[in-house]
Amino acid sequence: MGIATINPATGETLKTFEPLDHESIEAKLTLGKQVFESYRKTPMAQRANWLNAAAEILERDKVKFGKLMTLEMGKPIKSAIAEVQKCAWVCRYYAENAATFLADHHIDTDASQSFVRYQPLGIILAVMPWNFPFWQVFRFAAPALMAGNVGILKHASNVPQCALAIEDIIKEAGFPEGAFQTLLIGASQVEAIVSDSRIKAATLTGSEPAGASLAATAGKHLKKTVLELGGSDPFIVLESADLDAAVTTAVTARMLNNGQSCIAAKRFILADAIADEFEKRLVEKFKALNVGDPMEETTNIGPLATPSILQELDQLVQDCIAQGAKVLIGGKPLDRPGHFYPPTILADFPPGTPADNEEFFGPVALLFRIPDINAAIAKANAIPFGLGASAWTTDETQAQRLIDEIEAGAVFINGLVKSDPRLPFGGIKRSGYGRELGIQGIHEFVNIKTVWVK
Ligand code: NDP
Repeated sequence: MGIATINPATGETLKTFEPLDHESIEAKLTLGKQVFESYRKTPMAQRANWLNAAAEILERDKVKFGKLMTLEMGKPIKSAIAEVQKCAWVCRYYAENAATFLADHHIDTDASQSFVRYQPLGIILAVMPWNFPFWQVFRFAAPALMAGNVGILKHASNVPQCALAIEDIIKEAGFPEGAFQTLLIGASQVEAIVSDSRIKAATLTGSEPAGASLAATAGKHLKKTVLELGGSDPFIVLESADLDAAVTTAVTARMLNNGQSCIAAKRFILADAIADEFEKRLVEKFKALNVGDPMEETTNIGPLATPSILQELDQLVQDCIAQGAKVLIGGKPLDRPGHFYPPTILADFPPGTPADNEEFFGPVALLFRIPDINAAIAKANAIPFGLGASAWTTDETQAQRLIDEIEAGAVFINGLVKSDPRLPFGGIKRSGYGRELGIQGIHEFVNIKTVWVK
């Protein structure tokens, strides 16, 4: 697929872009290296002013940016606008807190003074996906820029106008020319860029193959990476749970972003005692969802972002059905233009279906029944991924066991797994490594320099 804006609600190609050639990439890397030498010396307060200005631009034009996202990748307009506002939040959060997070950290030793100083690394490459086209980029850019790094963005090929808009926002906010640059390039051009000595580290959010490929190249050149990959997050509901709250949250947790979120709840693990009731209510709520034009405020579910996302999802669903899984609702693409898949619930899986180890990236819920908490934890962990987990119980002892024993980068008890600028975000197992957000996120791309003075 080339670099293009293709409306997923209609399939219409609206704009195409030529990938940058070698000379243009070279010019941008040269500029990035040059600007880093001066940018790294700018006072933290100055960087904070620029980042706060970026937050204001985001809020000022939130409808415009929201519409751009919806046009390019199909998320419902209300959540697109909310995403822009969340980007303003992460900018303000790091503008306010970076100086504290990066202050010298004194440690008593045999020296007269010893401390840790956090220093920027240089140009950091961000390879980003289309599912949260603004949020994924700002949650990288805000801490990186506050730390004194400069950024190069290779965004997904289906959101080029979002990528260019983000570069413009950062420029308009006052950051020096070249402090944050978008490269309109295809995935095959990434290897050469990671290998370039001017790139000091890289972060990628996306699929396992993309993450493994980037990390292999970075490893060859001994460069640090942070990877945020897929997930098949469990949503555990035990007998003592508040069922109303759990079912309502389950719908949001599965359907956010038309179901295309790494931290969406994908496997619903239900205690036998409440499973019939939960299933009945979930089916009712899924039936009530409004599938349609994502530009309409009343739409809950828009199209999937690309034809291949739809095909891959449908293939997984058909494989499950062929092996004996039961369809409670939905189960095949909608017969209309655009890449629409209906809210779908599958249950009663025999062993060995894709539900055991694949990520279902779309509006498909997988239901499992378990007799007790031991089985719930075993089922939650029986997956190659470990990103987030949501677990519902009013029993404090059970809550403690879930917190301790679930293999994931985050456990949310009685709540929706969500990213928050104040909390670290990332996974274990095949969901990746490293953390974004919080104090941990800003410490990923810095030289943690030990200083010892006699
Ligand atoms: P990809 O992983 O292919 O795309 C994510 C980003 O990585 C894009 O910028 C893409 O560029 C780039 N990329 C792809 N291959 C390489 C490579 N070999 N080296 C360097 N960069 C690369 O995701 P898809 O859009 O193809 O989605 C496929 C599946 O990935 C989804 O079904 C889902 O399971 C998972 N996914 C997970 C996300 C998450 O939030 N964790 C986000 C998106 C996808 P380009 O667009 O030019 O190919």
